Amino acid sequence: MAGALLSPLEAVAHLATYERLDGLSAKDLMDSRVHGGLTYNDFLMLPGKIDFPASDVITETRITRNVILKTPFMSSPMDTVTETNMAISLALLGGIGVIHHNQSPASQAAMVQAVKRHENGFIADPIVFSPNHTVADMLDIKARLGFCGIPITKTGSLGAKLVGIVTSRDVQFESPEAPLHNVMTTSLVTAPQGGKLPIVDEQGRLTSLLARSDLLKNQNYPLASKDHSKQLYAAAAVGTRPSDKDRLRLLVEAGLDIVILDSSQGNSVFQIDMIKWIKQTFPKLEVIAGNVVTREQAANLIAAGTDALRVGMGSGSICITQEVMAAGRPQATAVFAVAEFASKFGVPVIADGGIGNVGHIVKALALGASGVMMGGLLAGTTEAPGEYFYHDGKRVKSYRGMGSLEAMEEGKSNASGQVNGSTKQAFQSSNEPHENAATTRYFSESSAVKVAQGVSGDVQDKGSIEAFIQYLYVGVQHSLQDIGMRSITDLQEGVMKGRVRFEMRTASAQVEGGVHGLHSYTKRLYA
Ligand code: 5GP
Repeated sequence: MAGALLSPLEAVAHLATYERLDGLSAKDLMDSRVHGGLTYNDFLMLPGKIDFPASDVITETRITRNVILKTPFMSSPMDTVTETNMAISLALLGGIGVIHHNQSPASQAAMVQAVKRHENGFIADPIVFSPNHTVADMLDIKARLGFCGIPITKTGSLGAKLVGIVTSRDVQFESPEAPLHNVMTTSLVTAPQGGKLPIVDEQGRLTSLLARSDLLKNQNYPLASKDHSKQLYAAAAVGTRPSDKDRLRLLVEAGLDIVILDSSQGNSVFQIDMIKWIKQTFPKLEVIAGNVVTREQAANLIAAGTDALRVGMGSGSICITQEVMAAGRPQATAVFAVAEFASKFGVPVIADGGIGNVGHIVKALALGASGVMMGGLLAGTTEAPGEYFYHDGKRVKSYRGMGSLEAMEEGKSNASGQVNGSTKQAFQSSNEPHENAATTRYFSESSAVKVAQGVSGDVQDKGSIEAFIQYLYVGVQHSLQDIGMRSITDLQEGVMKGRVRFEMRTASAQVEGGVHGLHSYTKRLYA
């Protein structure tokens, strides 16, 4: 029954005659009574109108009450993801890396300090040898890490008196047992901190001048995450045992800006007490509490004074919590439920786990997350801890859950003194009496059955995060452009006001949305 046709000129005005916009609002999409709990793959966002270039899109975001970053990218506090290199590189690129606590408090504090002291162009934590190390030690480092210039200090550690330097040339024809004091170069060219270094040729003729300001210019990071004194932001994770207070003191002395209370179930009296203690003891330290996946969990941590919430239970790529503990929540629903609630109190939310591509990042942001925390996606990069090895002909690095038996065992042997095992606690102790958690439980491990909540595996070489984060950044800009949003703030406002629309994806829609019908193909993501 064809009625009279309308004029094409009326098309836009005619939209107003529909009761609602095409698609669903986030609230309708996330009604778990209708759709159950959703993951990022279960839905899509409908495109909007493009009237600006993608490069105009602003990805600035407030990840805690008082910290604003230029990008929402965060790396997980995991021992195969975030140590000094990742934390520095990610901060330079506009995100933030959270240094893991599956190590002694002293070494975690040293990593925080390296981030805070980082200056562009300088290696803040060089590998250093003592004069008694051997040529074999030097060759080993060269083979494994590719370095060929290693400074020698009196004690073999940074901060001690510099006595020489060894380069490949020095050790070329030497026996592997020879101590480095026999072969090192002792006539050193040095410059005072902050000074200029004249570079000369073999005859001592000046060829150039190295100045710190030039290095800074050459390595310009316009998005870098910096505090008011222009130092990189440093973040680190701790547990909630009494001994973690001592750990945290050390981290704060090292310059820590943000602490993450690392627990797979954050709604506990231990965490509530810890938040209150931190806010009293270190009022300037930003606290990210969690993990939570419900409004009810979030409410307690918000009331205790947290500056942000970390959301996710069982969505991580290495995680078996939902399977083993029967507790958790599909991540998209969890992010929306917590963010919608927390936004009423000005508390930002970090979507943690289950981020596998640019689309997941944008969906997490649309559902209200201010930051996205990635483990698996950043593991396997040059900046992740660990060395590459070959598995089935592919170049890989280890990636493992912090609740895997392997990581828990290592936490036990790595940590020192009584302040140890805090990573293990993140996955095991929240339902235990607190008093015995720090020592009794930990030191009587042999009688306890450890219940794993994660697995251990490997991920393929992804190259440097310099290129990878740039890909994520530009990818997010293009996605927001498609949705017609100029910034993360606009996106979130558009979603809350029901202007940004969503649609469920059936199983066949998901097949249709992936590559299909090809005999073979290669999937290159960026160039
Ligand atoms: P991914 O980015 O690999 O999907 O997930 C990383 C996140 O998984 C981490 O930030 C952390 O919240 C969580 N996670 C890390 N290790 C484990 C584990 O062993 N078990 C569980 N349940 N979650 C883990």
